[in-house]
Amino acid sequence: MARLERQHPDADTELHFTTPYELLVATILSAQCTDERVNQVTPALFTRYPDAKALALATTDELEPQIQSTGFFRAKSKSLSGMARAVSERHKGEIPATMAELTALPGVGRKTANVVLGHALGVPGLPVDRHVLRVSNRIGIAKGDDPVVVEQQLCDAMPKAKWTKTSDTLILHGRRICKPKPLCDKCAVREDCLYYRKTSRVAAAGRPVRKPQGTGSTAAAGRPARKPQGTGSTAAAGRPARAKK
Ligand code: SF4
Repeated sequence: MARLERQHPDADTELHFTTPYELLVATILSAQCTDERVNQVTPALFTRYPDAKALALATTDELEPQIQSTGFFRAKSKSLSGMARAVSERHKGEIPATMAELTALPGVGRKTANVVLGHALGVPGLPVDRHVLRVSNRIGIAKGDDPVVVEQQLCDAMPKAKWTKTSDTLILHGRRICKPKPLCDKCAVREDCLYYRKTSRVAAAGRPVRKPQGTGSTAAAGRPARKPQGTGSTAAAGRPARAKK
């Protein structure tokens, strides 16, 4: 992780926010959408609805056109409206700072709660998304495609103070380097990566290789490279994973 942190010193959430409420709204909107797109939508939304109490007064019909470009806008407007009403009624308009209270809000899952806890509420949280699943499994610092299980494995391995940074770093590594087709030749942890070691050994033995693209030997030898294994359900189902960014 230290090497990955040095490779991605800017790792942090890319969502723009100034309060826990704003980050919760932005994170709900970021499902199946790029952070960049969310950041285009949220300034106007935050001006019109500066806190949960203001958002609670909005109808889903009002919200839908304002968030349409983030996709799944009907479901997201229901989540935003339900979340805002629950925060107003149960928490006097303040975003709660525990996993249990956050995940009890409509439209708020464990990953979203961890994002808000770790980045806006000062409570250690380790959000596990598809990038964290893929990268941690490939390196060999986690095993499994269940985000809750992988979250526990990574939390057990890392000090609490590093949880959020660990997630941010693995996410950025997954977006930039360890993509579904990994750029292993640019990776700071190549020598420690289980996936890379395995594929290198197989390549050295001269057998057909399941190899990440861009690492050289297979491509140079002109042998067909098989796609790298993904870690999540999408990969398990044989479907190509959609990159977030
Ligand atoms: S060596 Fe390749 S597969 Fe391993 S973490 Fe780096 S980019 Fe991913």
